[in-house]
Amino acid sequence: MHEFAVADQIFQSCIETANHHQVDKIIEINVELGDFTLVVEELLTYSFNIMKKQSPITAESELVITRTPGVIECNDCKKTSEIWFNEEQEEVPKEEADELDNFTQKVHLNKDLRFMSINLFRCKHCKSRNTNLISGKDIKVKNLKVQE
Ligand SMILES: [Zn+2]
Repeated sequence: MHEFAVADQIFQSCIETANHHQVDKIIEINVELGDFTLVVEELLTYSFNIMKKQSPITAESELVITRTPGVIECNDCKKTSEIWFNEEQEEVPKEEADELDNFTQKVHLNKDLRFMSINLFRCKHCKSRNTNLISGKDIKVKNLKVQE
């Protein structure tokens, strides 16, 4: 499971930091979770709560997760837009919808899924789809609160 691997990374990073700074106990771990990692927060917390018991340093620590948006950079207008995986998508224009319909039938794709992905990475400034996801797939330990 993906979440267990991520929890393990967070755990290892906490232990390393604690050893480096000679910390005995971490009480809070602030993690930034990119929206496009597709990590389920509840599963991550669940996984971490199992893993943290391996060390007295983290045994009583709490994982605090902040979700961060994906960022796309437009190759046409060069601007960046923030996007969320579950954000409501604008409707596809009629002529594009027909085209997509044909396409999804041909390749037996779920129509909703196809519609979502085609609009998800669209530039919010000029509506171009010629974009790259430049951020949103990272998991960062932002800071740790330790017991004095
Ligand atoms: Zn653009």
